[in-house]
Amino acid sequence: MRVQLIDSAYPVGSHSRGVSAQWVAWKCRTLGIETSYTAEGCEAVLVSSVSPVDAPKLSRMSRELPLVVGGAGALSPSAYIRHGATGVVLGDGTAFLEKVKSEGLSSAMNLPNVMTASNKAPTVDGAFDFACPAFTSEEGTRRIVIGRGCKHKCAFCHTSWATPFAEHDRPEAVAVAARAIVSAGDKIGYVTNDMAMHPWAKTLPPSVDASFSIDYLRKSGMPSQRQIRIGVEGLSERLRRFVNKPISRSDLVKCTSWLNAGGKSVRWFLIAGLPTETDEDWAELREAVQEWKKLTPKGVLALSFTAWCPDPSTPLAVMPMTDDYWPRVESFREWFFGGQGWSNRVKLMLPQQPESRLKKALLSMDATERQLREGGAQGGNSGVVYPFATACAAVRRRLLCEK
Ligand code: SF4
Repeated sequence: MRVQLIDSAYPVGSHSRGVSAQWVAWKCRTLGIETSYTAEGCEAVLVSSVSPVDAPKLSRMSRELPLVVGGAGALSPSAYIRHGATGVVLGDGTAFLEKVKSEGLSSAMNLPNVMTASNKAPTVDGAFDFACPAFTSEEGTRRIVIGRGCKHKCAFCHTSWATPFAEHDRPEAVAVAARAIVSAGDKIGYVTNDMAMHPWAKTLPPSVDASFSIDYLRKSGMPSQRQIRIGVEGLSERLRRFVNKPISRSDLVKCTSWLNAGGKSVRWFLIAGLPTETDEDWAELREAVQEWKKLTPKGVLALSFTAWCPDPSTPLAVMPMTDDYWPRVESFREWFFGGQGWSNRVKLMLPQQPESRLKKALLSMDATERQLREGGAQGGNSGVVYPFATACAAVRRRLLCEK
């Protein structure tokens, strides 16, 4: 059997493939399914997609062949079906590809984790095949997949609410592969949502960059990586508690300063526009930056913002979406560039503007703008059987009471 394999992050016709598409190519190879960059002689088109914002691109792909979508974006499957996908594979594609090989595409389309026009209530499969080799990412780093999903459950995080947690079951094989990569002089990285979830990962050669939690750093001491990412998420202590990622301002500032003193550059990942956000939350972030400047004579702090976007599996998905984060972003920018906030040791990456955030939310939820603005709607993915649906409903009830 021969299939066309497309990574929708790249222009149609491109020969580039990200880590997920490389995994599909590897799995097909091991099963004896041939993959091609063009549709010629193929029985189906497999599309690897990291975000449902790619759904409209399906209209530019072959309509003569069955079009099957997988990848992280497929965890919000409904928009792909509306844009012409024959099937969307939720979760890991191992079972799907094995079924394609053993019984053909039509049988595989009937698997419970495939959304089709006639199955709007798919499950999410969690049987990832960790036996794959390291894949090379765009920037040339050799990346070994060691974990899927996340044991923490931040209230906005689709990865953790839509994907069952799984980790590599042969740490010794990971260590051997990692040492071989380092010996060959290549840069190494690990694909996981949190290194701290794998206690055995401490024995691996250090990656070029990594995300750490404050708790993990407190227990493990100074990391060997030069670039440290911290998923701070909420702008203030209140917002961090609200999304289930409680980090005190004092811990955040002191930990960052300690990392800088150890020669590390630090990046905080922050979410603008979380439900319930107010001016006070931004004021607290300004104070945190000022405290860091006072405490830290040398070193760089980058602030990377993304705009909150509802994702269907998460507790926050039912909260109303408003655009009032944008004037707050602008006033933060003015404070930083034109006022006392300025420092050439602080780097800013601002979030998406409301228009592009809305575009993404419409596709992720597959709901109307009015539904998103009013909140409460589950959209076209309401039938999907996400693995933590019961716990999610409980957190939603609590958040709606706290609001
Ligand atoms: S935001 Fe990070 S720590 Fe929180 S659930 Fe998602 S992957 Fe885990």
